[in-house]
Amino acid sequence: MVAEIINGKDLAQQIKDNMKNEVTELSKKGLVPHLTVVLVGNDPASRSYVNGKKKASAATGISSEIIELPESTSEKELLDTISTLNNSSAVHGILVQLPLPEHIAEQKVIEHIDPKKDVDGFHPVNIGRMMAGKDTFLPCTPFGIVTMLKSKNIPIAGQHVVIIGRSNIVGKPVGQLLLNESATVTYCHSKTKDLKKFTKMADILIVAIGKANVISADFIKPGAAVIDVGVNRLDNGSLTGDVEFEEAKEVASYITPVPKGVGPMTITMLLQNTIKAAKGLKLQ
Ligand code: NAP
Repeated sequence: MVAEIINGKDLAQQIKDNMKNEVTELSKKGLVPHLTVVLVGNDPASRSYVNGKKKASAATGISSEIIELPESTSEKELLDTISTLNNSSAVHGILVQLPLPEHIAEQKVIEHIDPKKDVDGFHPVNIGRMMAGKDTFLPCTPFGIVTMLKSKNIPIAGQHVVIIGRSNIVGKPVGQLLLNESATVTYCHSKTKDLKKFTKMADILIVAIGKANVISADFIKPGAAVIDVGVNRLDNGSLTGDVEFEEAKEVASYITPVPKGVGPMTITMLLQNTIKAAKGLKLQ
């Protein structure tokens, strides 16, 4: 079997084309969705992610701005900046690029963002709403993964999903979203004994570890759908996932590549959340 490749870049483009039409319609009614991204410090990877978000926003007609703050910004100054954005009717979505410098408490910052503008979906109110299956801003990477599975009509209900990784931004929420879709979900992590025993049972295997090519074909049940979330930069500068792509694609039924896999979907879901914020999420 040779797996069908789920090209996240192409799917993201299709979704962005549709969003562009929606943004045009909203703009005609005087509502231009606006995203404000706050970048603290000079981390090159963060800067590149933020620029990617700005570029993608522009391509869909969403207005965006980047507020750049120096590394020395105090926690209070950052919280004050967020308060101003919370109170501005011109700002629909707020995203604080993570990670933050060590002297700033990340969770405190996340919790300071108005949940109605929390387009990353990291605020505890939105996490709680997601767990309860209520309308909310879904965290972008998990939302993108579910959208990729659905785009190929890959069955979810009743399927066994195994996730490697339990971070708050990928592993945990993607499991919750798929549980909401009636999957049977198993979480694995660095303390899991006999990882392969679990991964070999997966109808859908989601890998979010952050270590290059650690999941080889012998971890995969023949015919499984494999979603590789990992993004790892090799010494030669190229990007690779957590899954040994060339051999895994000989075993899986579907597989996402890196690059052009989950990454482009994440940004697209952020834009979708920004449109949702502009239209006004009702928290009730
Ligand atoms: P993270 O917070 O570092 O979490 C990594 C998880 O992997 C942890 O739960 C860890 O277990 C587990 N783990 C580490 N080594 C393992 C091993 N040998 N066997 C089994 N589990 C292991 O990372 P993250 O933020 O979730 O990101 C994961 C990867 O996805 C990174 O490469 C990141 O760059 C990428 N990513 C991509 C996108 C995208 O849009 N494409 C978005 C977000 C993240 P413990 O909990 O026990 O430590």
